[in-house]
Amino acid sequence: MADDPFENMLAQMDRAKEYADVDDGVFERLKHPERTLKVTLPVELDSGEVKVFEGYRCQFDSARGPFKGGVRYHPTVSQREVEALAGWMTWKTALVDLPYGGAKGGIICEPKELTQNDLESLTRRYTEGIRRMIGPETDVPAPDMNTNPQTMAWIMDTFSMYEGHSVPQVVTGKPLELGGTPGRVEATGRGVSIVTERLFDYLDRDLSDATVAIQGFGNVGSNAAELLEEAGARIVATSDVSGAAYDPDGLDVGALTEHVNAGGLVEEYAAGNLRSTSEEREAVDGGVRWDDPELIGNDELLTLDVDVLIPAAVEGVITAENVGDVRASVIVEAANGPTTVAADEVLTERDVQVVPDILANAGGVIVSYLEWVQNAQEFSWPLETVNAELERRIGTAFDQTIEQYDEKDLPDLRTAAYTLALERTASAHEYRGLFP
Ligand code: GLU
Repeated sequence: MADDPFENMLAQMDRAKEYADVDDGVFERLKHPERTLKVTLPVELDSGEVKVFEGYRCQFDSARGPFKGGVRYHPTVSQREVEALAGWMTWKTALVDLPYGGAKGGIICEPKELTQNDLESLTRRYTEGIRRMIGPETDVPAPDMNTNPQTMAWIMDTFSMYEGHSVPQVVTGKPLELGGTPGRVEATGRGVSIVTERLFDYLDRDLSDATVAIQGFGNVGSNAAELLEEAGARIVATSDVSGAAYDPDGLDVGALTEHVNAGGLVEEYAAGNLRSTSEEREAVDGGVRWDDPELIGNDELLTLDVDVLIPAAVEGVITAENVGDVRASVIVEAANGPTTVAADEVLTERDVQVVPDILANAGGVIVSYLEWVQNAQEFSWPLETVNAELERRIGTAFDQTIEQYDEKDLPDLRTAAYTLALERTASAHEYRGLFP
């Protein structure tokens, strides 16, 4: 069932179960989310129309600590998707050893069709809907697809107004002025770049001049592109909903980032129509490094002849149907759940190394944790401290995953990561026991 992310998450758990030291009863417990709240959100839009939206917050598991996970705004959000994403948060926080459980929220909406005022009203109404279940010690939301520091500021403000005092610690990914941490916006992309470098070291391969295709040029994809380029890799393709730009000689990541930040589409970049290139850029780089990018489809990007493929968009894109055409030898899952279990089996068979999502994209929640800790201490750290701590934590999780993979002779890195995550979560359940 490639199109049901929850079924896919359960199948990933089942695949790892045979190698994990987990009691059957506890394992069964881990397959069910603790609770999911569905909220109806009537909002008066700028246009004068009253529109009724639907939102969710799923709290999957809290054996290891408060629930933690982002909130996404997207037309394809569903209860099942939010529950799958909350499950993946549970395994992610366990794998990178944060004292958290897993949660996720979402609103079914098309943010492109909403004004800034509409988004504010929708966010505040959603926060009112879920505010009884969130809090610094219970459940801490964060950004995800189509949400950002401004969204977190609205959640923080709405929650705080009802509490009667400021509660910055209720969300992470806040603007710096409200207790956010330096390094949070780039954190997921930075983590993707760190694990890619570590994997190349492990495989004894040279990242400099490796070719990389990145599906999705949002916050995660664009930051990963920039950092991997700095590490010497060549970013040959990337995409958004409008299509993909492909240039075997390498894209101009800096120019594309400026263009996209100014509201431009990848399709326009491929056609040579850039929205903006700063004077500073002209001065430093002598203008845009412009070869001749070709406009290709998002599906085609997945099957390019590259060394590294980084899906950084939505779930379920590498499937039984297209996996036979995937030519990359390394896949780094920046998105949550981009590979179906059926595709995974083929990749394992073919010895394609896949850094699983719960490791590859954990940089975001790691730095969320660092933000939450700074808020609790009422103390702030410089960027260098945050980045060093991110590198240490994701590096440790990477090393532990590799050790598990090698020592237990496991079929792939996902199985190694899942066995660790399931065993840690199960062990917390066993210590705590069943009560009441
Ligand atoms: N939404 C991000 C994720 O999927 C970050 C969650 C967080 O920081 O709590 O990992």
